[in-house]
Amino acid sequence: MCRHLAYLGPPVTLRELLLDPPHSLLRQSWSPRDMRGGGTINADGFGVGWYPGDGPPVRYRRAQPFWSDPTIAELAAVTSSGAVLAAVRSATTGMAVVEGAAAPFAEGRWLFSHNGVVRGWPDSVVPLAAELPVRDLLTLDAATDSALLWALLRDRLRAGVAPARAVAETVTSVAVVAPGSRLNLLLTDGRTVIATAVGHALSLRATPASVLLASEPHDDEPGWRQVPDGQLVQATATEVRQHALAAP
Ligand code: GLN
Repeated sequence: MCRHLAYLGPPVTLRELLLDPPHSLLRQSWSPRDMRGGGTINADGFGVGWYPGDGPPVRYRRAQPFWSDPTIAELAAVTSSGAVLAAVRSATTGMAVVEGAAAPFAEGRWLFSHNGVVRGWPDSVVPLAAELPVRDLLTLDAATDSALLWALLRDRLRAGVAPARAVAETVTSVAVVAPGSRLNLLLTDGRTVIATAVGHALSLRATPASVLLASEPHDDEPGWRQVPDGQLVQATATEVRQHALAAP
């Protein structure tokens, strides 16, 4: 099951964040420690989204293993940002392996990633999909559960629902129609990050000036803590809040 991370804090190079740590996201693409619910490696694509300044994010995504792309290594060495969302993908059986299925998904300032699976997809979520504008269904990023989750969340964000509430509502509504789903989400606008731990591991490390949320700790430094299952985290670089998601 995919691995993802979000970082907010002082600018770092993508290389320092994603490639250099001993158990970096790069390493997690071929040697993850904590895969649950199927899959052994994350070779079905990867994506990095970062905010180059005050403007909207830039993305680099590919439908190939993270380790097999020389361009990202070169780019990562010279690209710095204080807000990054990145993911490596292990496609769920039956789901398309295409660039459009690799997180982060994006709109405007938003970047989004899903680590997990929607049980019974696609039939289980037909009632939720039916509430979306037909145009959104015709223009889904990919034929995957994660792309549909993004469409459901984006619909709430477009309607002006507060981001933490939009994430919580999306998770709860999917859990109702597709019980047993694994729904670890990450959403950021480059200033705040919202994360859920539902069915998968999530770790958090906060310093006075930064926050890092990741599927797996990327080093053995002190300060990492596990986010308990069923929790939603809302963080800026300097403040972390956490609460239980409402039971579906
Ligand atoms: N089900 C999603 C996909 O196929 C996410 C996969 C994952 O977390 N491994 O893209």
